[in-house]
Amino acid sequence: MTKELYNLGEMPPLGVIPPKMHAWLIRPERFGKPMEAFQKEVVNTPPIADDEVLVYVMAAGINYNNVWAGLGIPVNVIGARNKAGEPEDFHIGGSDASGIVYKVGKDVTNVKVGDEVVMHCGQYSRNCEWVKSGGDPMYSPTFRIWGYETNWGSFAQFTKVQGQQCMPKPRHMNWEEAASYTLVAATAWRMLHGWGANAVKKGDVALIWGGAGGLGSMAIQIAKAAGATSVAMVSGEDKFDYCMKLGAKGCINRNEFDHWGMLPHWKDNVGYSKWLKGVRSFGAKIWEVLGEKRAPNIVFEHPGETTIPTSIFVCDTGGMVVVCAGTTGYNATVDLRYLWMRQKRLQGSHFANTEQSNQMNELALRGLLDPCMSRAFTYDEIPVAHQLMHDNKHPHGNMSVLVGATAFGLGAHGKPPVAIEHPMLPKGDVHNTPHPYPMSTPLPGIGEGEALTITDDGTKVKDLMHRGIISCTPTDTIGTVAKIMVNKEIHAVVVMDEKGKAIGVVSQTDMVLARQGRTPDQARALRANEVMTPGCATCDAEMLLSDAVSLMTGRRMHRLVVTEKDQPVGVISMTDVVRKIIGE
Ligand code: NAP
Repeated sequence: MTKELYNLGEMPPLGVIPPKMHAWLIRPERFGKPMEAFQKEVVNTPPIADDEVLVYVMAAGINYNNVWAGLGIPVNVIGARNKAGEPEDFHIGGSDASGIVYKVGKDVTNVKVGDEVVMHCGQYSRNCEWVKSGGDPMYSPTFRIWGYETNWGSFAQFTKVQGQQCMPKPRHMNWEEAASYTLVAATAWRMLHGWGANAVKKGDVALIWGGAGGLGSMAIQIAKAAGATSVAMVSGEDKFDYCMKLGAKGCINRNEFDHWGMLPHWKDNVGYSKWLKGVRSFGAKIWEVLGEKRAPNIVFEHPGETTIPTSIFVCDTGGMVVVCAGTTGYNATVDLRYLWMRQKRLQGSHFANTEQSNQMNELALRGLLDPCMSRAFTYDEIPVAHQLMHDNKHPHGNMSVLVGATAFGLGAHGKPPVAIEHPMLPKGDVHNTPHPYPMSTPLPGIGEGEALTITDDGTKVKDLMHRGIISCTPTDTIGTVAKIMVNKEIHAVVVMDEKGKAIGVVSQTDMVLARQGRTPDQARALRANEVMTPGCATCDAEMLLSDAVSLMTGRRMHRLVVTEKDQPVGVISMTDVVRKIIGE
C-alpha cells in the first residue's frame, strides 16, 4: 500500500505517488517578508492533466519572483489565480528545478517515468488558437511563468509541469547545479539567438551588461559558443577574472564613467555635449578592450533606464540592443537620430519558448555552459535564501536549494563532455543594486483598464484658463520675448504667424536652453522661431481639465493654447492647475 506521506529525502519507489507531500507555502494572510511569508505545510499531491508530468523534485532554483509572490506585490498571484477560476488558496513557488519524472499524462511523449530532468518555466495552453497555428507560445495570451504565475512550483516534494517544460538533466551536474541555470540561461538564449537577422553569430561583438550577474554570466558563455567576442560590463575590477574565465575577451568597470542616466535634453547644448563626451570615451574603452575599432553588433541589456542611452549610442550600425528588464527604471530615453540614421534595433525580449530553452540546454548537456551556481541551501533554508534576496545580501550568480536530494553534491554522473573551469566570484560579492522588478508582471490589459473608476469634479478648461493670448512673431528676438515674459509675468509666449495662427510656443525652458553654450548677447539675438517648441498643442475650452492635464503631461508640456471654434482665445498652464489644487 502507498504510504500517505514520505519524509523529506525519503524517496518513494519510482512511479509511486503518495497522496500528500511536503511543501513550502505562501498564503495571503501571511504576505510579507520571506521569513514570514513562507511556511512548511503538508498538502495534497496535485493530479495531472494529459499533457502534464509530475516530477519528484531533487533541487530547486531560487529566483527573485518568489520574493514578490511572498510580499503579495505588485500582484497577488493567489488572488489572480482564484479570479481565473483556480481554487487553491495558497502558492507553491519555484521556477527552476531538477528532478526525476514520476508520472506522465497520456499525451506526453518526450519523457518517461524515471527520466532525470530539468525544467524551463514557460507554460502555455496547447489549445490556444495562436499556439495551434504555429505561433510562438511566448506571444500566447495563455503564457505563464511556472511557479510564479502558476501554482505547484518546485518548492515541494512533487511539482506539476507540462511535458514540454521537461528537458534532459546534464549528467555531469549535481542536482543543485542543474536546478540553478535554466531560467536565466534560456532568457539569455532568446535575447541573443531569437531575433532573426540580429541573432548573434560568429565574429560578432557583444556588449554584456552585468557580466558577473545571473543573466550576464550566461550571455557571455552563449555568445562565446556562437563564436562571438564579448565585452563584459561590471562594477569592479575584482569581477574581471570571473567574466574572463567564462569567456569574455575583456571587461569594463562601469564606475570609471559617470554619464549614466536619462539623456539630457537635446536642446541643452552643454548637458548634451558633456553626455556625448562621456559616452564617446566609453566607446573608446570598448575599442581598447577589443584591440580594434569595432562597435558591438549586439548589446545585451537589462539595467534599463541608466544604460539604454549608452547602449543605443555604442551599438553598431544595423546592430541590436536587446532588453529583458529595466532594473534601474523604465523611462529609457533614446536619441532617435542614432536609432534611425544608423538603423539600429531596440528589441524587447522575455524568457524563451520551448525550442529555445532546449537549444540552450544543448549547450549545458555538452558541458559548454557553467551553471554559475554561487550558493546552495538546504530545504529548511528556502525562506532564508529569499530573505537574503529581499535584503539584497545574496551573492551574485545563481542560487538553489536541496529538496529531495539528501546532501550537497549528489546526482552527477561522470565528467562533462567538455571540461570548463568553474570561475569563483570575488569573496564577499553580494548584490548592492535596487530590487529588480519581477521578471513577469502581468501588465494591465485593455479590459482591465476599462474597469478603473476615475473620479473627476467636472472642472473644464474654460473655468481656469487665462483669456487672451500673449504672443510674439516668429522673427522677434529672444531679447524681445524675454521682455514680454518679464513685463507680463508669464512663463511662455505663443508664436503667431502673419495669419494669426499659433505655430509654436517659446517657454522659459526654451529660453534657458537657448542660453546654454552661448554668450548672453548671442542668446538674445536668436529669433523666436529658432528656439520655440514647434507646433502648438491646443485644447478646446470645453475640454475636461483632467483630459487637458493628461495632454500636457503626456507631451511633457506646461501649457496649452485654448481654442473656441478653432480660434485661439487663451492659455491654460500647469500653474493654473497648481493654483486650483491649493484652492486659490
Ligand atoms: P543579477 O544577478 O542581479 O545581475 C544584474 C547585474 O546588473 C548585476 O550583476 C550588476 O552587475 C548589474 N547592474 C546593477 N545595477 C546596474 C547599473 N546601474 N548599471 C549597470 N549594470 C548594473 O540579476 P539577473 O538575474 O542577471 O537579472 C537582471 C534583470 O533581468 C532583473 O531585473 C531580472 O528580474 C530580469 N530578468 C528578466 C527575465 C525575463 O524573462 N524578462 C528573466 C530573468 C531576469 P555590476 O554591479 O557588476 O555591474
